[in-house]
Amino acid sequence: MAKIRNKRNEKRVKLYRKVRNVSSWGTLGVLLFLNTLFIVAAIYIAGFNIQYFFETKLAENYTELEHVAKLYEAGRENEAFLKYIESGSIEFIVRDKSGNVIYQKGENTCAEKGGLIGYENSTKFLYIYPDTRLGVIKPGKNEGIDPDLIAFFDYLKKQNADLIKDEEKKDKDKEENKNAVKKVDLPYWVRIDNISDSYEFIGKAYFSYNERDAILLIEILLASTLIVGVAFVVLIVFMIRSIINFRRVVRLFYTDPVTGGHNWIWFVMGGDEKLGKRKFRKFSFAVVNLAFTNYRNYCMCHSISEGEEVLIKIDKSLNRQIRNDEMCARASTDGFALLLFFVDEQTLRKRLQTMMDVLQNVDKDHNFVFQTGVDIIRPEVNSAGKIVSRDVSIEKAYNNACTAVTVQGETDPAGVFIFDDQLFQEQRWYDTVQESQMKAVVNNEFEVYYQPKYDPKTLELKGAEALIRWNSPEHGFVSPGRFIPIFEKNGFITEIDHYMISHVAADQKMWLDMGYHPGCVSVNVSRAHFAEKDLAIQIRDMVNAAGCPHDLLEIELTESAFFDDQNAMIETIKALKSFGFKVSMDDFGAGYSSLNSLKDMPLDVLKLDAGFFRGDKAGDRGGIVVSETIKLAKSLHMKTVAEGVEEKEQVEFLASQGCDMIQGYYFAKPMPKSDYMQQLAGLAGAAVAAPATPVQTAQAVPVASASSAAPQPVVQAEPGQPAAPQPQ
Ligand code: C2E
Ligand code: CA
Ligand code: CA
Repeated sequence: MAKIRNKRNEKRVKLYRKVRNVSSWGTLGVLLFLNTLFIVAAIYIAGFNIQYFFETKLAENYTELEHVAKLYEAGRENEAFLKYIESGSIEFIVRDKSGNVIYQKGENTCAEKGGLIGYENSTKFLYIYPDTRLGVIKPGKNEGIDPDLIAFFDYLKKQNADLIKDEEKKDKDKEENKNAVKKVDLPYWVRIDNISDSYEFIGKAYFSYNERDAILLIEILLASTLIVGVAFVVLIVFMIRSIINFRRVVRLFYTDPVTGGHNWIWFVMGGDEKLGKRKFRKFSFAVVNLAFTNYRNYCMCHSISEGEEVLIKIDKSLNRQIRNDEMCARASTDGFALLLFFVDEQTLRKRLQTMMDVLQNVDKDHNFVFQTGVDIIRPEVNSAGKIVSRDVSIEKAYNNACTAVTVQGETDPAGVFIFDDQLFQEQRWYDTVQESQMKAVVNNEFEVYYQPKYDPKTLELKGAEALIRWNSPEHGFVSPGRFIPIFEKNGFITEIDHYMISHVAADQKMWLDMGYHPGCVSVNVSRAHFAEKDLAIQIRDMVNAAGCPHDLLEIELTESAFFDDQNAMIETIKALKSFGFKVSMDDFGAGYSSLNSLKDMPLDVLKLDAGFFRGDKAGDRGGIVVSETIKLAKSLHMKTVAEGVEEKEQVEFLASQGCDMIQGYYFAKPMPKSDYMQQLAGLAGAAVAAPATPVQTAQAVPVASASSAAPQPVVQAEPGQPAAPQPQ
């Protein structure tokens, strides 16, 4: 198995995973974010309310203490004034910048340093120190105090009047509500700022709260807890809903819309995951393409929906026939993908055959046809013999399985085909040929070889067959058997036919101009080309363009071509003949009998297939068929050419039977143009071709000779053995 992973597939799988993750985590993430935002907002609002509550309370005390601090600042140098302050109930402590107490009222137990807890109107910072009780400044009697000070006191009193009034009212209210509302006083110390730069004033305040305050606080806390709780419940509900939805999406993502079973995406993702798992490393797997070959036909004869019903049955049947840890999915319109455990080839073939048998009867009223292609994935072993993790792509393996069906499926309409290295190499070669074919034409990599045809009686050179060779700089010298079938499949063969006809016509014209007597050269024209109605005109124009007389060209048609559109073929043959070309039937006797074609086709030449001359010798049953065929051709006024003749007895037999020409290794292998030209040159000089040299190795060709029929070995002309004809 090739190590190279399909990058595109990897990308796609990554994308699937991304989509899967985004659809779940994405939604949850957004929900979580919104929820957090909501909860933070609720906490912030609750906090704001609580802060407002506390600040209002603190502000009350702060104003009171600030007032005392101002009083202290105003009269701190005056003993009487301090006494006056002493008479108030508010306790405070005054410290210089070094922290030394310079004045103290009450039992000050506030901590050395306070903590900043909040602010009021964004300018006053509250430094809180822990400790005891609250009191309000109530000036005492002014005995023995000087008048100025009294005046100052009055002023202060006036200033303080509202506060006193307020405090008195509050005291009254407090007194009244004493029994109605329970009150709690929490003492604390507060530093009053902006009074003096030389000392700090820390006064004692009481944070009082009553039942109402407590209820308010509890209400705020409850409300915010409720809000947070609701948000949390909403989050949970949304999360559950999104998980359910996500599962639905995933199911949809992996479900085949027709069968309701699994789809290709599921197969690729799950399959790759399974093959990569540590616990499956030691197992071999078979990736199978099960093709429902007559699905299209069934849909055409019935309906698409009936066809889909069958697909559903197939999917169900396959899922029943596989193990839980195996996989099955619909991969294409009429193809199912399976990932099965593999034990050995025989068991697998049997298992797949059984599967196909079961499927054939999935609907009792119809007979369905299936083919299966398989790619086997074995455990991967490192150089130390240890099983290591696999680097395979299930998509690639499935593609191989499909290739096995496509390539080999033609041979067996209901078989099991296993992809192997040979098939892989063939497909690679197919691809290489297809990739380089056009470039090869442009670069003139195709060469025309000529295989001479001889008269078996006179041993005269009568003409030749033009055969193509591919002299590729990358792939070396390639014989037509390796690329002609590919061109026939991919349609490039028509290009090759044109190439050959125009080159042969040009060569013939050149040799004619050189004073040679070139015999008729036959060119193979593919069966595919005969579908073109104007083929005869195309050929005529090409030959005319080269200036070659038409009677120097023969068009060879393979026997199989005669099974296509008979009427069109007869028309083309007639047209070719009317232009003066000869037409021959190639490979007569190979494959199907084409006696019927002989009846209708006005052909000039019958080429007896090489198969007649393999194995059995002339004189036995094969000999009878050959001699009768020659007779038949004669009575139909056709010439005969025997192909693939390698032995002297065959030549003698064919001569005795009146065969007109022989084309075979006994005389010559196909040779390059230059070699064939030398043969023509000899012929021109002597007017008659030399007799052939029968050599055991078929490495020799006859040399044109004026007189002698004696064997004259010459070096074979095929590649690797450059031709070196030796004129007598
Ligand atoms: P074909 O048209 O039947 O050509 C005869 C083939 O038999 C040639 O093989 C030739 O080399 C081979 N042959 C001739 N005498 C002997 C012999 O005594 N013994 C043996 N073993 N073989 C002999 P080649 O050249 O490899 O061509 C194979 C086939 O490729 C041809 O069969 C023909 O179908 C196709 N082909 C070759 N050139 C062309 C072409 O230019 N156009 C088309 N369309 N097909 C071509
Ligand atoms: Ca031929
Ligand atoms: Ca042939």
